[in-house]
Amino acid sequence: MKFLDEAKIFLKAGNGGSGCNSFRREKYVEFGGPNGGDGGDGANIYFKAVHNLNTLIDYRYKQHFQAENGKNGKGDNKKGPNGCDLFLKVPVGTQILDSNKEKVIKDFTISNEKFLFLKGGNGGKGNSRFKSSTNRAPRRFELGKNGEERWVWLKLKLIADAGMVGLPNVGKSSLLSRLSNAKPKISNYAFTTLKPQLGLLRKDYNDLIIADLPGLIRGASDGIGLGHKFLSHVERCKIILHVCDVSSDEQTILKNYKMINQELRKFGIENKEEILIFNKSDLLNDEKKKISISNLFKGKNFFFISCIQGDGLDNVVDFLFKLFLNSTNEN
Ligand code: GDP
Ligand code: MG
Repeated sequence: MKFLDEAKIFLKAGNGGSGCNSFRREKYVEFGGPNGGDGGDGANIYFKAVHNLNTLIDYRYKQHFQAENGKNGKGDNKKGPNGCDLFLKVPVGTQILDSNKEKVIKDFTISNEKFLFLKGGNGGKGNSRFKSSTNRAPRRFELGKNGEERWVWLKLKLIADAGMVGLPNVGKSSLLSRLSNAKPKISNYAFTTLKPQLGLLRKDYNDLIIADLPGLIRGASDGIGLGHKFLSHVERCKIILHVCDVSSDEQTILKNYKMINQELRKFGIENKEEILIFNKSDLLNDEKKKISISNLFKGKNFFFISCIQGDGLDNVVDFLFKLFLNSTNEN
């Protein structure tokens, strides 16, 4: 599934340091010559594409980036140090656009590619550089130049790793908000009528994106509203989280489960890794019912959870990452 993730950020490369205006002052040297050093160069800003990131979420939390300024020159012909270049990491697939979103400045397609985006200002010359046969004591020196700056948009087509399906009211939205610690504000891509919600899960430096697909089934069965297009995007995600409401009776749970899978199959969505989520287990006070549900779904990966009480969520997260990392290693 692809969605659009974007962020507007401001970047400023470092200013150059100023040159220094200074003269030698030593005992017995009456007219010491100029010895002001040059200013250091301001740092550049680079973008670097990396494969282990899959959202632009970090750029929504921090919007302004300033690279280091060069330091001023000093006496004794000491040059000021250059600023240290700033490397901004973006996921492979990111595009950089101008502030009007009109022109694509750069399209990152391969991992580890570096792109010099803004140049830092040059450092100014110190007064010792202006010494000449006719001017032995120049007081002239240069200020550092300003670094380049601009606003840009970053855009990324996100691919969700797991898709959530289930009838309305089974608790998909609740589960998404319980599982993901950050809910990126992500604009809808390609679908205008319904807005899939995305959540980002982070565990041990791995990111996983879950998409809640509201009304997936309702629309799919009658072919109205959601087109084939919507479902065809589901094909791309590796894992299906199938959410059921265990407050219904066993036969209804099974019937609904089959009905939804049949819809998915109609669109060629099969052979995915599937995790069955039996939600609202807080309403399940009959141990016998739990056993009979377990028997009905024997051989499948299922978890009894309660979004309201938080039971069983950790197990789902662990299992989800296990499947996800397995599937990534296979590719
Ligand atoms: P969705 O339509 O599948 O996205 O379902 P929602 O997340 O909107 O939840 C539907 C209703 O079920 C809401 O009133 C929730 O408060 C409720 N609900 C969700 N999870 C649980 C749960 O674990 N236990 C109980 N008792 N109610 C839940
Ligand atoms: Mg919902």
